[in-house]
Amino acid sequence: MTPPMVAPGAAAVSIDLPPNPAPTRRPTIVPVFLPHAGCPHRCAFCNQETITGQAGRDPVPDLPALVARFLHQQPPSPRHVELAFYGGNFLGQPRHRIQSLLAAAQDLVRQGWIGSVRFSTRPDSIDDQRLQWIAGGPVRTVEVGGQSMDDAVLSAAGRGHSARDTVLAVGRLRQAGFRVGIQTMIGLPGQDERSALLSAGRFAALKPDFVRIYPCLVIAGSPLASAYRRGIFKPLSLDAAVVACARLWRLFARRHIPVIRMGLQASAELSDNAHRLAGPYHPAFGHLVFSELCREALARGLRRLPAAGRAVRITAHPRRLSQVRGLANANLIALTNRFALTGIRISSDPDGPCHRLRIALD
Ligand code: SF4
Repeated sequence: MTPPMVAPGAAAVSIDLPPNPAPTRRPTIVPVFLPHAGCPHRCAFCNQETITGQAGRDPVPDLPALVARFLHQQPPSPRHVELAFYGGNFLGQPRHRIQSLLAAAQDLVRQGWIGSVRFSTRPDSIDDQRLQWIAGGPVRTVEVGGQSMDDAVLSAAGRGHSARDTVLAVGRLRQAGFRVGIQTMIGLPGQDERSALLSAGRFAALKPDFVRIYPCLVIAGSPLASAYRRGIFKPLSLDAAVVACARLWRLFARRHIPVIRMGLQASAELSDNAHRLAGPYHPAFGHLVFSELCREALARGLRRLPAAGRAVRITAHPRRLSQVRGLANANLIALTNRFALTGIRISSDPDGPCHRLRIALD
């Protein structure tokens, strides 16, 4: 994080967030859920039927219609569309199943609907033999469910693989020429903040093309749900998860690794307390994290200004303004109280860099 730029006695300060390294051209991802397909068992936190709102059934016959519906009948630029198989352990499925899904996807590539395929899978399912099964096909990107690089945490989460499996998996994927994403979690059983940060550092050292960060929720029907009911597991609060996620985001951003998602995709199932029993869920979780990053940055800037008893003006790029304000102006209220300000005015600067915030005495 760049220190605030301020001259002695100055009435203004600029603070830079680490520039978001997210690629400017993100692919359009068409998700196809295969709940628990290929899973050797249920990990402690997981119940994909609830998370995805879909029961497992063969998607192959419906794939063309599903893709056409998602893309509104109109392929944008197929090169930028990826069909994504999520919700299970793709490479844990039998060979004939993997190949029939990829053959159906290959037809969609030929017809100009999609450009490539991605899937999520466990690290211990990524071996040379399975990579040969998919070689030469439409798969471009593999998302590895690493979750943690702390073996004690992996064991408590019932993952059944080790941190070393993830290191080996990423190496094999790289060697085979795939783009690699890593999924990591916070708030897992037995995981404190230090463990989460150390894991993030070890994931970053593997130089993935991108990461996703998911807070651990208590999902009905998951093994963790009974631990929660017995008082053995306590999930992170929403505030703690937002702060933890902001720390991880900064770590990855400093190492130029895009964080492409924070928090599970919002869904009716996750909004329903009967399905999500507890845990840090918010439909705009990523927005909360960016608001936290802005609040921390603004607090650092305000500490450098003689702002007490004064009003200030905060200037930011239009895309940053709602994050500067925070949900329901929470950041403005918190900063006003903390620094004894008489008011905060917000200005938009469409010409300034998106990662820069400026505070001036008003
Ligand atoms: S976390 Fe992944 S491997 Fe574990 S049960 Fe869920 S889908 Fe299967």
